[in-house]
Amino acid sequence: MKEIYLDNNATTKVDEAVFEEMRPYFCELYGNPSSMHFFGGQVQSKVNEARIRVADLLGASPDEIIFTACGTESDNAAIRSALEVFPDRRHIITSRVEHPAVLTQCRNLRQKGYRVTEIGVDGAGRLDMEELKAAVDAETAIVSLMWANNETGVIFPVEEAAALAKSKGAFFHSDAVQAIGKIPINMAASSIDMLSLSGHKLHAPKGIGVLYVRRGTPFRPFLVGGHQEKSRRAGTENAAAIIALGKACQLAGEHMDAENTVVKAMRDRLQDALMTAIPHARINGGGAERLPNTTSIAFEFVEGEAILLLLSEFGICASSGSACTSGSLEPSHVLRAMGVPFTCAHGSIRFSLSRYTTDAEIDTVIRELPPIIARLRQMSPFGREFLKGEAR
Ligand SMILES: *Cc1c(COP(=O)(O)O)cnc(C)c1O
Repeated sequence: MKEIYLDNNATTKVDEAVFEEMRPYFCELYGNPSSMHFFGGQVQSKVNEARIRVADLLGASPDEIIFTACGTESDNAAIRSALEVFPDRRHIITSRVEHPAVLTQCRNLRQKGYRVTEIGVDGAGRLDMEELKAAVDAETAIVSLMWANNETGVIFPVEEAAALAKSKGAFFHSDAVQAIGKIPINMAASSIDMLSLSGHKLHAPKGIGVLYVRRGTPFRPFLVGGHQEKSRRAGTENAAAIIALGKACQLAGEHMDAENTVVKAMRDRLQDALMTAIPHARINGGGAERLPNTTSIAFEFVEGEAILLLLSEFGICASSGSACTSGSLEPSHVLRAMGVPFTCAHGSIRFSLSRYTTDAEIDTVIRELPPIIARLRQMSPFGREFLKGEAR
């Protein structure tokens, strides 16, 4: 069965052109980019090209790009660095809806005695800017807020938040893993100090990330050892993956317009058709500005896991909340922070599209999902009560 892959916020297909770009760097051009000989030098110049391609997508300069092993490492490194640069500032600000790569680290730091403020969101997933304004103080070392939420696609006003952080002398970091390639980002016109991205969310392989660090921003490395990445990230460069990421960033720039027209139109069509066909459904974050590729829909009185199981009989791959939180029966921390009622949070499904999504695939979901929801509601005691109520 051919998959209908609507789980692109979890990971993406490696673009064929990206794979071709990296292929020679395994068995033929396998030199160490730090080596003095011509053979390593060939790899070094290709890594430099990749650094320029990544910088171009971000509106950054190449020396502001540090290659890491993943988005998680970039997030960890940014927060660690700020705390080392400011040993006397023992306060960290983040939000309640961050990815675990940020949230778990902040909670661990709280255990170690740091003061951690988690800013809340409203029912549509929008950041509480008043709460943020009140929280930033002279003890704040870093404010770390995601650019766009992986579960709902809700976009935070990160530039405004960065200005607040900077006004108190704190660093501002943004986990932009879900935003890169989907919405335009221009670091040249930004006051954000540090930014994380991850290759496998934009059609590059898994296991490659970037931490952008603005020129002139003091930085303390997370990994120490050799002098790679100008001593900001030790460890032999993952040259093939870096080269792949460079190509993926170049392609992301070329596809940005389509992401916001073609992909967004498919997302909107999917969402509108499901909302019309299925009673008692709501769009999580529907009232907020969102990424063009994401929709999270809550279907009342059904279990998300049951929906996913039945969808997968048609080859449809989606997600119930975040992959990182699945495996537990707790509703996602993002939906809880938004105050989504329990009965809705449990039946929430995230569809995340990509440039590979086709209209025919969207048609299949629109055709298959409504009867699945009806069947599950028929089977569940809550759902039956609810249907009885409807009939009266
Ligand atoms: C996927 C993701 C990460 C983690 O990136 P990895 O490369 O998988 O470590 C961090 N933040 C957000 C918002 C993500 O979606």
